[in-house]
Amino acid sequence: MSKARRKEKDAGTTEDPKLYLEEAALERQLPELDLRMLVDLPPGLDYNEWLASHTLALFDHINLVYGTISEFCTMTGCPDMTGPGLRTYLWFDEKGKKTRVAAPQYIDYVMTFTQRTVSDETIFPTKYANEFPSSFESIVRKILRLLYHVVAHIYHCHFREVALLGLHAHLNCVFAHLTLLNQRFNLIDPKETEILGDLEAALLGDSTSAPSQTLAIQETPTTTNTSSTT
Ligand SMILES: [Zn+2]
Repeated sequence: MSKARRKEKDAGTTEDPKLYLEEAALERQLPELDLRMLVDLPPGLDYNEWLASHTLALFDHINLVYGTISEFCTMTGCPDMTGPGLRTYLWFDEKGKKTRVAAPQYIDYVMTFTQRTVSDETIFPTKYANEFPSSFESIVRKILRLLYHVVAHIYHCHFREVALLGLHAHLNCVFAHLTLLNQRFNLIDPKETEILGDLEAALLGDSTSAPSQTLAIQETPTTTNTSSTT
């Protein structure tokens, strides 16, 4: 029950209509089942290794999509790093101080931080003898949260440009990948992801529960069932 979406609260009255929720924009490139299988940890595979590969893939794709529309994301056009639901993101600098920065600047910080982190052999080891640090999952959580902000900004401010370039299905697919990975492993705070909860529901249905859990819910409790109508 606590997981219930709060779509109504997200739909601020002062906001523009959400182009990304229009039906024609909702096409994706892959059926949902394939994406769910894509994020499931295969037996015998190391969890950190799995997180690393998905994080790298998401970083590459989000970087590419943003790169195609970055010329439209300017200091004057996007003076704040905004997302749906009137959300504004402030950048935390290395001392933990919040700073208001323009969206292109914020996204540049995200991409630079991520690039530096995934290239660091002590964090994302590529050589056989090197191991993941104990803080690896929390670092991945941070990267995914920041990448989520970039995705939220693209949907909120640049979806029209993405659609005009014919990349909306790709963006939706990347969003679905990020969302399903998060649903599978709970990597991003729900307070972060609720702003795109309506898109999540439109693209993936009310899919907070995995198919196996859905089946469990459908099982009828037998304890107090005295009905004889069936
Ligand atoms: Zn922008």
